[in-house]
Amino acid sequence: MDICDLAPAHIRAIAPYQPGKPISELAREMGLDEAGIIKLASNENPLGVSPLAARAIERAAPDLARYPDGNGFELKRALSARYGLGEERIVLGNGSNDVLELAARAFLTPDLAAIYSQHAFAVYPLVVQAIGARGIEVPAKNFGHDPGAMRRAITPKTRLVFIANPNNPTGTLVPGAELEAFIRALPRDVVVVLDEAYNEYLPAQARYDSTAWLERFPNLIVTRTFSKVYGLAGLRVGYAFADPGVADLMNRVREPFNVNSLALAAAAAALDDHEFVRRSIELNRAGMKQVTDGLAKLGIAFIPSFGNFVSFRVGDGAGVFRKLLGMGVIVRPIASYGMPEYLRVTIGLESENERFLAALEQALAA
Ligand SMILES: *Cc1c(COP(=O)(O)O)cnc(C)c1O
Repeated sequence: MDICDLAPAHIRAIAPYQPGKPISELAREMGLDEAGIIKLASNENPLGVSPLAARAIERAAPDLARYPDGNGFELKRALSARYGLGEERIVLGNGSNDVLELAARAFLTPDLAAIYSQHAFAVYPLVVQAIGARGIEVPAKNFGHDPGAMRRAITPKTRLVFIANPNNPTGTLVPGAELEAFIRALPRDVVVVLDEAYNEYLPAQARYDSTAWLERFPNLIVTRTFSKVYGLAGLRVGYAFADPGVADLMNRVREPFNVNSLALAAAAAALDDHEFVRRSIELNRAGMKQVTDGLAKLGIAFIPSFGNFVSFRVGDGAGVFRKLLGMGVIVRPIASYGMPEYLRVTIGLESENERFLAALEQALAA
């Protein structure tokens, strides 16, 4: 008997998440110097950690022998003040990935189904499959979510709908008005998880206020993260806003100390680091232009993106990815998202973007 056969079939069938290649791993594999490698593979903030968050981490470190505040009082208070929503509407997570999983755990069973789009964030099928629920992938429209098709895919068994806005890895955005109409038309027993990991990067003309919808839609869960614009991906902290009853359910299935004390302290400080957020957004805006102008000049098609990354078409994604690795440039293959001809690059510092474009030109010429 193979001990692994004892695990349920839906667990054995899970395809593991494929993270961006770490710098240290590439250095080991290729015998390269870590300092000469650039990683533009995981949509991390190229400016690093917010300075206010870094100071908060130093101040919190001496208390590490103690358990964290399991209710995250200070961070919830800071989020509540920022967004004008009661603390009873907030769920904190070990990254927003954790919060996505809490939503699935709170609402799904093996006889229910969840819906997500083709080319949408890989974590949705993972958390659905971990429960043994049915995952329904709805074909994308122009690489983005197709709300009409998603609406039509709903059956009486559907309990959750995941929407990433903007979506990763395609960078597409469902306009706020269209999204609100979609949620308004949903059956009341379908819960929408609106994943807004890149919300802070949206330009003024694309902004919409999903937090204001919560009052009207008790079936709406909005998730956000400190991993992107706040520069805290390594600490793992994210959160959800939801109906107070829904938040209570999600908190019941949460591990009691799911967010560590350094993360709690750093996130609260980062939320107030307006200067860092402003610089991060500005760097991304300029870098997005630099990268997309560069791609256009090389004659490479790309999908216009609302995030801090852009996906572009190279034909042989795996081959170009390997050539770039050889030049010390790590981007992200997205074949597992059904896009084998594309690669995704995170917008980096100006010098990193330049090096990426030069390496790409060379990779395509070779
Ligand atoms: C990066 C990302 C997240 C953030 O995940 P964390 O667990 O908060 O680091 C969530 N959703 C999408 C679509 C993302 O791309």
